[in-house]
Amino acid sequence: MIVVMSHTATPENLARVEKKITDAGLRYHLSTGEDRTIVGVIGDKKKIGELQMASLDGVEKAVRITEKYKLVSREFKPENTVVDVNGVKVGGDEIAVMAGPCSVESEQQLDEAAKAVKEAGAQFLRGGAFKPRTSPYDFQGLAEEGLKLLREMGDRYDLRVVTEIVDVNDVDLVSEYADVLQIGARNMQNFRLLQAVGRGKKPVLLKRGLSATISEWLNAAEYIMNEGNENVIFCERGIRTYETYTRNTLDLSAVAAVKELSHLPIIVDPSHGTGRWSMIQPMSRAAIAAGADGLIIEVHPHPDVALSDGDQSLKPEKFAELMKDVKKIAAVMGRK
Ligand code: PEP
Ligand code: MN
Repeated sequence: MIVVMSHTATPENLARVEKKITDAGLRYHLSTGEDRTIVGVIGDKKKIGELQMASLDGVEKAVRITEKYKLVSREFKPENTVVDVNGVKVGGDEIAVMAGPCSVESEQQLDEAAKAVKEAGAQFLRGGAFKPRTSPYDFQGLAEEGLKLLREMGDRYDLRVVTEIVDVNDVDLVSEYADVLQIGARNMQNFRLLQAVGRGKKPVLLKRGLSATISEWLNAAEYIMNEGNENVIFCERGIRTYETYTRNTLDLSAVAAVKELSHLPIIVDPSHGTGRWSMIQPMSRAAIAAGADGLIIEVHPHPDVALSDGDQSLKPEKFAELMKDVKKIAAVMGRK
């Protein structure tokens, strides 16, 4: 349930609303907008069903929410959320671009990639140190050594670091080095992992599961927010369909849908979304035009020898070209 307070509600009115909620054995979440305060009621469905709030003084209306997710919903918080990653904002006026190799492979590879993406204008360095590979015989990542390299290059080139976490037991370790914790497509419904990153404050990049509906994806974000972490960024990375020409089908309609349903920012991954480097530039343009808050793109200094996802990685010069396009489209969209 969402309780919308009227413009004229007094602090006493609000206190009365809060008390009624807690007396009923329920919890609440306040969203204090410029215009008005919205109180989200969380907890047992049956208890919420019995709660009568509309008649209290200062209450404009009490709306019963049919979807299970609440904290992530725009009904709960009408204004866009801007996630602040150590001073770099995601979801504000500026388009956030995260770029770098699929996997961290070596110091030289990461240094070359980081230097190139910084020069082209990216604000974030991506790179996997723990790789969730389809085959156990494929390169699994450099683990902590990879995290150290990411931090080193992030500091060297003033880039925020985004990297994937695959294990509940690694939250502290990865948090030590990364600025953003990425939850990969294969772990989107790993609820223990979602709760674990939700207990911290580090921003979380939540990729859409390979065959997740938008509702399942929003509920996954609810798991994170319900633990107290409000810094969630969605990432559309393509879904499984019958099409085989592309690795996945990049669902750009998800950008518009998430913008309608949620206040959280959303970025697009055209590398995993298409699996083909030649399609990254056109789909990046489309993503920004559709209203995405940013992009995450695989860039490798030598894609032909990449240990993972070389086919969907851009060479640095192609990435620089893409960034010019992104700037033009961002301007048309009234963004930077
Ligand atoms: C990645 O970002 O390299 C990755 C493995 O992505 P996804 O989880 O979307 O497949
Ligand atoms: Mn990859």
